[in-house]
Amino acid sequence: MILITGGAGFIGGNFVHHWCERQAGAEPVVVFDKLTYAGNPHTIAPQLKSGQATLIQADIADREAVRQALAQYQPRAILHFAAESHVDRSIHGPGEFIHTNMVGTFSLLEETRAYWSAMSEADKAAFRFLHVSTDEVYGSLSDTDPAFSETTAYAPNSPYSASKAGSDHLVRAYHHTYGLPTLTTNCSNNYGPYHFPEKLIPLMILNALEGKPLPVYGDGLNIRDWLFVRDHCEAICQVLEKGRSGEVYNVGGINEIKNIDVVNTICAILDELRPRADGKPYASLITYVTDRPGHDRRYAIDPRKIQSEIGWTPAETFASGIRKTVQWFLDNTEWIDTVRSGGYRDWIAQNYGGR
Ligand code: NAD
Repeated sequence: MILITGGAGFIGGNFVHHWCERQAGAEPVVVFDKLTYAGNPHTIAPQLKSGQATLIQADIADREAVRQALAQYQPRAILHFAAESHVDRSIHGPGEFIHTNMVGTFSLLEETRAYWSAMSEADKAAFRFLHVSTDEVYGSLSDTDPAFSETTAYAPNSPYSASKAGSDHLVRAYHHTYGLPTLTTNCSNNYGPYHFPEKLIPLMILNALEGKPLPVYGDGLNIRDWLFVRDHCEAICQVLEKGRSGEVYNVGGINEIKNIDVVNTICAILDELRPRADGKPYASLITYVTDRPGHDRRYAIDPRKIQSEIGWTPAETFASGIRKTVQWFLDNTEWIDTVRSGGYRDWIAQNYGGR
């Protein structure tokens, strides 16, 4: 049994799918998720229905709830995805980011430490706490700087990345101080199925399909490294299996792309798969908008450590991954409608008493 915090979110939800397929149902998962606006149990409905996944709706900062979950399910590993994750939201309201990403991670670590301390020596050695984090903790690169490596100094610029940096430091400290067997992964921008519509790629796809403007920040020349979410999930599985306790692994897609090129690529795929009724190209909807305050210019990941030590490398190129992603959004309008309408909240109310 493994416990996944944030398993109803974008990456955590994809991870539940990936894990259950990979393990062919041999090892079930417990999803511990507060079900914030970003948590959608519909994403993992097949696994919940089949019994491969169980959902606990609770806050990671609620120590009693964490304690009970650990006592009841006795996981051999905790995979910590839960976070407030949207940079724009962190600029307008940093409080929730401090609560979940820092206080929540601290609470989870404290309860994990107590749970782990009571194990047999063999179980203690086999146990893992895998913390999922971001390359944004390293700050911003110029166009000519070398890519981020595991030894790059932290320089977070947004309340989001600062709160994730704080959580990374706590995880590191729990390994060094208490010997908790931790693993940390810092990854680049993910994209793929079940991505919440406020993020760049799904926003562009859905706005384009509705004929709405495609808002691009600043000059559109900010660069991100794009990682297909299933490649990330596989990386996490492999780090869990082969990673050395206490180590950090950067996970990158080896796909550095300017934001404007991401948007143009989506437009070109949509022109081909779903031409507009008026015959105009989707790119004509692109509108430049005022830049985000403190917008980091470039992120790039040096993936050599995970490649050489773990043997992981991404399977998708951006061209193949973005095509799959656009196709998924074209094929899964029901999921999109439930997220946008908040319809899944009825499901939560029926199953979990509502919020
Ligand atoms: P997401 O916002 O889609 O999902 C977060 C999940 O955590 C949701 O299900 C939400 O309900 C849950 N959650 C939030 N606060 C909680 C709390 N206090 N207690 C319990 N559950 C809570 O995020 P995501 O994009 O899936 O990101 C997952 C992890 O990966 C995060 O830690 C994020 O920092 C990291 N990450 C994401 C990206 C990316 O491109 N999406 C890139 C690098 C790192």
